[in-house]
Order: sequence, then structure tokens, then C-alpha cells
Amino acid sequence: ARLPLMAGNWKMNLNHVEATGLVEKLAFTLKDFHYDPAKSEAAVIVPFTDLRSVQTVIEGDNLPLKWGAQDVSVHASGAYTGEVSADMLAKLKCAYVVVGHSERREYHGETDALIGEKAKVVFAAGMTPIICCGEVLEIRKAGTHVSHVLSQVKECLAPLTAEQVAASVIAYEPVWAIGTGEVATPEDAQEVCGAIRGYVAEAFGAPTAEAVRIQYGGSVKANNVVEIMAQPDVDGALVGGASLNADEFAKIIMFYS
Ligand code: 13P
Repeated sequence: ARLPLMAGNWKMNLNHVEATGLVEKLAFTLKDFHYDPAKSEAAVIVPFTDLRSVQTVIEGDNLPLKWGAQDVSVHASGAYTGEVSADMLAKLKCAYVVVGHSERREYHGETDALIGEKAKVVFAAGMTPIICCGEVLEIRKAGTHVSHVLSQVKECLAPLTAEQVAASVIAYEPVWAIGTGEVATPEDAQEVCGAIRGYVAEAFGAPTAEAVRIQYGGSVKANNVVEIMAQPDVDGALVGGASLNADEFAKIIMFYS
């Protein structure tokens, strides 16, 4: 059985002081709710400048939370002003690194090929990539969303071994559902997540497909998470806005209760 991964992508919100406040409040709320990490894994995906503080609080208080970064450089080191390497993130004990979020694709021109290379360097440094894919509204309207997403996934996974794919997290985030309050129906989420698992089975074998975790992302809230998580091929959520509120995100993490 796949352990669900409930990850909060803070995007460009909260400085390091605010970050420690939210992490403490989240942990306190989870404790209050009798959170069981064996039933769902919880992670915060924070700005680079927050990582050290978040690490210190979580390790210091032994909180049941993982942490991770929102992007990484494909380069190992050198003259790449403004970039952050996978080794630097691994040194901060990041468990996860999001690669290829739709906002990076849109505002920074990231391609599937680049995203695949990023996933590879994340594994090489001993961390797990959360590889994002998803169609824009025009493609959804044209009805070609499944083949579009599968072509993204195919190229993003191409540099990885079957073993790495099995250990990966793939996040299906339809762009039209991100930050819009427009959530995909559970059936929409299942359609694409199921197709992704089908592709992984075809390309990397059935055991790999059984192991890979596939998240849904896009306007996930406490009041819609249960029906989304009930879908057989949805193994977690990548949560934006709702992860900035400790009580709301704790309820999302506790979807199983
Ligand atoms: P929202 O939950 O705010 O729609 O954001 C989803 C997302 O992009 C998470 O990576």
C-alpha cells in the first residue's frame, strides 16, 4: 500500500520568522487531532530562505513533518548566480524537491526535458522529486488532456531508472484548477492519475507503477480532500493556498480520520 503524501506548497509566502510560527502551529494542531504519521505523510515545501529555520524547528522539537524545496538547479556548482544546488538542499535534510511546477513552466520557461534533469539531480543527492505535470484550460477544453499530460510525464521520467520512478512522487495539477477555487472533480483527478499509472506500468513495469505515488493538486481544501483521496490512483495532495492555514492544512493531512 502506498503511504499518502500530503504536501503543502507555500509558494512565495512566509519569511523565515513566519515559517517557524506556522510549522509550530501546524504541529500543535496535528497533535491535538491525534495525527498518525503511519496513515498519511505530511510535508511543507517552503521558500529557500525558510529551509534552515524550518529544519531547526522540526528537528529540535522532533515534529512529525518532512520539509522540502520548491525548485533546484540542474548544475552541481559554479557560476550560476541565484541558483541553489541539490547538494545544498540535501545538506539541509530536505526530503522532497518540487520540480516543474506549472508556475516555473509558465514564468521561467521550464521544459519537460529540463524537469527530468532536475528530477535526476534530486535523486543523485539522495532526495525525492515531486514531479509536476498538468494541462492548461485550452487543452482541457480540446479534450486532449490525457495525452498531453502523458507526454509531459514521459519526457520528465525519461532520464530516470525504473527504481527511481518507483520512488518518485508525480503531482498532477491541472493549471485551470490552481489558485482558482475551481477543483477538478474526483473523477477528473482519477482519470488522469490512473492514466499516469497506466503509462508508468507500460514504460517501467507493473511493480514500478504500483509503487509510484501520484498526487492531485489544484484548490484542494479540507472540504473536498476526502472525495479526492478516495480515488484509487490518487495517493496524496499538493496543496497551495490551504497549506498556509495551520488548521485547514491539518484537516487536509488528517483526511483519513
Ligand atoms: P492551490 O491549492 O492554491 O490551488 O495551489 C495548488 C498548487 O499549485 C500546489 O502546488
